[in-house]
Amino acid sequence: MTQNRSFVAMDTMMQLTLPSGQGDAMEASEQLVKRLDGVCSRFGDGELAALNKAAGTPTVVSDELFALIENSGHYCTMTGNAFNPLLGKLMDVWGFSGSDDGLPRVAPAEEQLSSLLACADPALCEIDIAQSSVTLPDGAALDLGGLVKGYASDRVLALWRERGLTSGLVSLGGNVAALGGRPDGTPWTVGIRDPLSGDGLIGVLPVRDLSVVTSGGYERYREIDGQTYGHILNPNTGCPAESDLLSVTIICPSGELADALSTALFVMGAKEAQTFWRDHPELSFECVLVTEDRRVLTSPGLQGFEPEPGDYEVVGGAW
Ligand code: ADP
Ligand code: MG
Repeated sequence: MTQNRSFVAMDTMMQLTLPSGQGDAMEASEQLVKRLDGVCSRFGDGELAALNKAAGTPTVVSDELFALIENSGHYCTMTGNAFNPLLGKLMDVWGFSGSDDGLPRVAPAEEQLSSLLACADPALCEIDIAQSSVTLPDGAALDLGGLVKGYASDRVLALWRERGLTSGLVSLGGNVAALGGRPDGTPWTVGIRDPLSGDGLIGVLPVRDLSVVTSGGYERYREIDGQTYGHILNPNTGCPAESDLLSVTIICPSGELADALSTALFVMGAKEAQTFWRDHPELSFECVLVTEDRRVLTSPGLQGFEPEPGDYEVVGGAW
């Protein structure tokens, strides 16, 4: 028997599943996710928000935030800047921040985008390990939205392990992480959503001790001048990524890595994403790419994917 708990944090629905009788662990997990939301939110008076206000001056940050900033720099380098954690101001001008009030009705001007992009260069961010201090480039804002849910799911699983639990599932708005298998010993099954239909699935995956993270243009988007813009930006242009992908699902043990890669590979598009998979066997990740022309591309090492019957052509084989 399992029990569930749902709550809202990080702007999305979160769901925890644990064997029955784990009320304390449930409560501690919810508090943990809400605490991380406070630390990593760009809004309010948490640590990241304060760091953003201090952009341009060295600021001492907690070990936790320091490690996240360091890691996000690694993801940036590793993905050739497809993952860029400094796009906060660009998210603002495209109207992806906060409420619907005051949203732009026209796309931001070219000059505005290029001046914000110039500040969002991760090479301009200085970190001092000895002092635990970070100096953000003046005019840029740190935005960890591309990996914070994956990180939070890792932390929840770590908390469960510390308490001796061996089975559980966390779903943080499209970021799923499994501890072990189900209490009855069978694997958890995680559905991969059909990006073109509300509740449909393109397939399911059996998982044990793995994270499954999906990014897509369909999750959060807005319309400007009749055009639809998704909330993942291309760091080379400062504009919403015009990807030939509808969604990217990454499967690997680390939720944080899976989250960062799902965002980055969406920006890259299908061909570059496949090349990235080939070039990075050391990252030990698998993926499912859903393309605009309705193909489902599964990476060669992916185990157990069961497609749902539907409108997509499932293409396995070599990458
Ligand atoms: P979701 O937040 O829906 O799970 P993602 O993990 O793909 O989706 O993260 C998208 C978020 O990441 C955006 O809302 C924004 O905060 C941030 N972001 C947007 N574009 C990028 C990018 N190219 N690199 C890193 N972070 C990004
Ligand atoms: Mg992500």
